[in-house]
Amino acid sequence: MITLRDIEAGNSVIIKKVNGRSSFRRRISEMGFVRGKEVLVLKNAPFRDPIEYQILGYNISLRRSEAALIEVALPGEASEFINEFNGTLTVDKKVNPKSFRKHGFAQHGPGGHGRQKKQRHAGGINHPSKFNIDDLIDPKPLAIIKVAFVGNPNSGKTSIFNAISGKQEHVGNYSGVTVDAKKTIIHYEDYVIELTDLPGTYSLSPNSPDELFVRDHLLKSHPDVVVNVVDSSNLERNLFLTTQLIDMDIQVVLALNMFDEFEKTGDLFDTNQFSKITGIPVIKTVGSKRKGCNRLLNKVIEVAENKEPVQRHIHINYGQELELSINTIQKEIWKASNYVREYSSRYFALRLLDDDFHTRENIQYLENSEAVIDVANHEIKRLENLVHENTQTLITNARYGFVNGALQETLKRKNHSNKKSYSEKIDGILTHKYLGFPLFLLILWIMFQGTFTLGQYPADWIQTGVSWLGELVGNLLKKGPAHDLVVDGIFGGVGGVLVFLPNIMLLFFFISLMEDTGYMARVAFIMDKLMHLIGLHGKSFIPLIMGFGCNVPAIMSTRTLENRGDRLLTILIIPFMTCSARLPVYILIAGAIFPESAGTVIFSMYMAGILISILTALLLKKTIFKAKEAPFVMELPPYRIPTIQSTLRHMWTKGREYLKKMGGVILWASIIVWFLSYFPRTNNEISTMEQSLGQIQQEIQIVQNDAKPSYTIALDSLQSNQQELVLSIHSNQQYHSYLGYMGRFIEPVIRPIGFDWKIGVSLLSGIIAKEIVISTLGVLYSGDESASDQSLRSAIQQQKHDQGKLKGQKIYTKGTTLAFLVFVLIYVPCIAVIAAIRKETGQWKWAIFNVTYATTLAWIAAFAVAKIAPLFF
Ligand code: GDP
Ligand code: MG
Repeated sequence: MITLRDIEAGNSVIIKKVNGRSSFRRRISEMGFVRGKEVLVLKNAPFRDPIEYQILGYNISLRRSEAALIEVALPGEASEFINEFNGTLTVDKKVNPKSFRKHGFAQHGPGGHGRQKKQRHAGGINHPSKFNIDDLIDPKPLAIIKVAFVGNPNSGKTSIFNAISGKQEHVGNYSGVTVDAKKTIIHYEDYVIELTDLPGTYSLSPNSPDELFVRDHLLKSHPDVVVNVVDSSNLERNLFLTTQLIDMDIQVVLALNMFDEFEKTGDLFDTNQFSKITGIPVIKTVGSKRKGCNRLLNKVIEVAENKEPVQRHIHINYGQELELSINTIQKEIWKASNYVREYSSRYFALRLLDDDFHTRENIQYLENSEAVIDVANHEIKRLENLVHENTQTLITNARYGFVNGALQETLKRKNHSNKKSYSEKIDGILTHKYLGFPLFLLILWIMFQGTFTLGQYPADWIQTGVSWLGELVGNLLKKGPAHDLVVDGIFGGVGGVLVFLPNIMLLFFFISLMEDTGYMARVAFIMDKLMHLIGLHGKSFIPLIMGFGCNVPAIMSTRTLENRGDRLLTILIIPFMTCSARLPVYILIAGAIFPESAGTVIFSMYMAGILISILTALLLKKTIFKAKEAPFVMELPPYRIPTIQSTLRHMWTKGREYLKKMGGVILWASIIVWFLSYFPRTNNEISTMEQSLGQIQQEIQIVQNDAKPSYTIALDSLQSNQQELVLSIHSNQQYHSYLGYMGRFIEPVIRPIGFDWKIGVSLLSGIIAKEIVISTLGVLYSGDESASDQSLRSAIQQQKHDQGKLKGQKIYTKGTTLAFLVFVLIYVPCIAVIAAIRKETGQWKWAIFNVTYATTLAWIAAFAVAKIAPLFF
């Protein structure tokens, strides 16, 4: 027996059979690994694992161990079973709900009772302009047309959704960018259309949480029209999902997207013929360039209004035996008096034959659900005994058979030359055996270095602007609490954070480049082997990288992972990825204390984060998560040149979010921190010091009035006394403020690391959002005249311990600085992340676990760094 694993790169083979667990078989066959298909072995990743294959004209990666489960034959030997699968296309033309409708019959399926009833009640917005006599005969008060976008990952759903709605949802060139349904309502001509962009899925079987989510959306929210977005240069695999939509008996419009790329191949596709065969109207689109969107909308409306001539429901013919089983199960379902014809019984029957756990639950409402399941089990046995193949494979094969048949009649492929495509050429370098890794590290390094150095210039301009404005406003206000609130609280706090806007935007620019070009999927590909060592999937690496942007969407994007254990584990290690809110803290602190090598220090922090997450994963995998792994089936999309528009838009969206945060939570936190640090104003000690300050000021006055050269020395010493007193008063006041109390309360815990109470307070407030670490320091260090200029950076350089046995020594030594950075990297992620962990895992347990674990670890690591680092400087 030859398996796919035995085949060397550069060779093609034909698939005979897929072995292994049923979830693997299902997953892989839905991706096109069905009997008779040709696979080309492309290349090994660094470390020889995983392997990249080409099937149905797209690239996919599998692990060696998985490839060993796929039996193959050399092209010459395979002819007998290929024939079996060509042209299985048979369309049952008798069933045509259109004609049913015309004759006044109720239509089965989601297009039937349930939905139409819903429409009649849905708000009753009539269109006066559309009103005509026909409506009296066939009243169709279409209030809102609900449209859902469904399709394979990366087929361009979000691009089309954005193009139509003018929204700016995230697009990227890898699987799993959209993780949540995104809704919007638009007004188009006389219609109100509700658009829903759904996560991408290869199938509705469902293997992963997002596939289940999409299917539930289709079944429960009853979209009026589903826009099935397909990648036209990869029709065979994309249309597999379409066959499932056909079975669900949903009204579909096919968006033949990426038509620009398709045209370049020189292939021809007969859309009219295709529509005739499948009963699905087809519109060519180019989502990224907003082409074809109006035609698509018009078609959607036509279908919703039942005016589209092509649209009809067909039955895919699953072959005699399967059809017999479907029919038997259907008959059992129909016996139930409480069967609502909301979903087609044929669909249910098929799903039951496909051994779908969720459908088994969904039909529990039927009074005879047990009998139905018995019948289904019986039929599954009967079929499996008959053909010695499990029913899932049988159904998948038949679906691909249908797709094949339809394409044979409609798609004319041009003979493609063997010239390497540009994607392959780029891949040759970026996923190269030896170069792949160093290049990845280099790219990361360039990204962080670029973020830091390029961002420095505009950051300096903003700094100058903020100081100037702060001074201007400060001069306008009378000395007193209001003045201090504005200058120290607001300008000191918010201004300190605002400075980093350019850095944040640059960071997102780089991340967006990695996402849009398709490099992200390659990173997962080359990292799989290493991730495997820590018991994770290469795919888990994408959320980790996304965590560099913001941990919250990164945690959400784990929904694309199939295995729950993997998902939990990935969620728990994401917070150690330095997010964009921690970056400003690094830039500020590292820039102040390590001005020469700030870029490298920052890069090291990122690497340390990755290391900690790896170690944590290892630890957890050894103790809590011992689950089996999900297969590494991952699509590698062709490289695409990102549109400037989408990159800029992405940057701008992130910049705007940052500004909003500034005007919201950071502003409030600054004000609160200022308030807590400003009051109470006086105590006995301060009063005494203020008295001596008054005396000194008087003496200075006298000496100055009486100016004699010999007094200069006296004047100097007086002035320095004055300065010292002002400082002491300021620090004494802060020390006895409410915030000071809080700080002193936690100080014993952090003192061993070398942190003072101000750092403690800033860390505490940073739990709300990491930028607040900066704004808090900004508030606490401002009004502190010791800094030569007003910038926060020099204030940090000057900070001295004002209490305890270290009094008078600088706080930010190199050791303490590194310890501070390490602490910020590791300790509790912000509140939003804790909430995301709670939400995505469904349990408080994991959120609490994360908080405890992270904080303890942060303390230990920071302590170690503070003690060890001085040995090196
Ligand atoms: P989704 O995963 O289905 O939501 O797909 P996206 O909208 O995120 O798009 C995936 C990638 O394909 C992005 O890089 C888009 O810029 C690109 N893209 C989308 N539509 C087209 C198209 O019609 N032509 C080309 N060449 N690229 C497209
Ligand atoms: Mg999307």
